[in-house]
Amino acid sequence: MADVLTHLPEGPKPDCPSEVARGARAADPPSHVSEFPILTVNQARVIDYFAECAANGPAKINVNYGFEVLDLTVHDSGEYPVEVHFMDERGTERTVRAKYVTGCDGARSKVRDCIDVEVASDPTAQAWAVIDILANTDFLDFRTRSGIQSDEDGSILLIPREGGFLTRFYVSLESPTPETRDRILATTAEEAIERANRILNPYSVDVREVTWFSIYEVRHTVAQSFDDVAAQKNPVLNPRVFIAGDACHTHSAKAGQGMNDSIQDGWNLPGSWVKYSKVAATNPCFRPITTSVRMWPRNSLTTTKSGRP
Ligand SMILES: Cc1cc2nc3c(=O)[nH]c(=O)nc-3n(C[C@H](O)[C@H](O)[C@H](O)COP(=O)(O)OP(=O)(O)OC[C@H]3O[C@@H](n4cnc5c(N)ncnc54)[C@H](O)[C@@H]3O)c2cc1C
Repeated sequence: MADVLTHLPEGPKPDCPSEVARGARAADPPSHVSEFPILTVNQARVIDYFAECAANGPAKINVNYGFEVLDLTVHDSGEYPVEVHFMDERGTERTVRAKYVTGCDGARSKVRDCIDVEVASDPTAQAWAVIDILANTDFLDFRTRSGIQSDEDGSILLIPREGGFLTRFYVSLESPTPETRDRILATTAEEAIERANRILNPYSVDVREVTWFSIYEVRHTVAQSFDDVAAQKNPVLNPRVFIAGDACHTHSAKAGQGMNDSIQDGWNLPGSWVKYSKVAATNPCFRPITTSVRMWPRNSLTTTKSGRP
């Protein structure tokens, strides 16, 4: 089953570098790696599946969309020491008190700012035009996941979208510098398609419809700590506020690292939390090292506002 799906690195023709040619076909993944076939499932659908499971699970959890966290304070005492100030969907400001809070509020995390966690980042940023298209083309591998590297015009990561019609292109743009950043981030869909056609030479795409387009700038980043206590370097206190997902780490848009790593953060949290609560019950001084073990407390408040196409 797995051998049916192939990844095709395509690169400049040795005898004519301005044109790309098929390089190799690789099994993706090799059939001995897993009994499961590899699938492409878009993020909106993944989020829907999780939301459905949460709603139908024993705790019957429904996500409240439209709440914006404005501020967060951790008080020194009290059963509910974390105070979160937020605005609801009607624009009314409200306050809740919680035992624990986990900020899953993305790369520009407000929760992370409120607990003074700094972020280390790789100084080199990459910019990509991400575009879902319906197109006529003579590029034969249009319905196969492919990496296409041109000699001078950059690269395309091509991912056929589910449904059998649309294809996603990640088109590499120039690396932004302070002087060029605004211009690069203003790249239009037409310019991205023009660049894609230069990369695909001698093939081309005749785009009939663009269903989604975005410019994505990414820097590899990692938060210096994943909870409020590690941030203050105070080993005595127990952490009350945690961050997970893009709030902790961001990656290149390619190779499916961001959402997958973020899901693993969530997956790791409950087990670690159960372990922590059992030990803490007998030893109140116990404090887990959350930089390596992250926790997802039962009473946590998750912050989520909207989905992504
Ligand atoms: C173009 C693109 C392509 C990608 N492709 C892939 C891929 O193929 N595979 C992969 O694994 N990953 C991919 N990623 C990365 C993936 O989308 C992220 O890593 C993942 O969404 C992180 O999840 P998260 O929940 O931590 O953050 P997010 O998905 O960013 O969710 C954060 C949520 O918090 C909300 N929020 C923000 N601030 C506040 C506030 N103050 N109050 C309340 N709510 C707030 C936001 O509205 C949002 O809903 C891609 C990303 C982009 C942009």
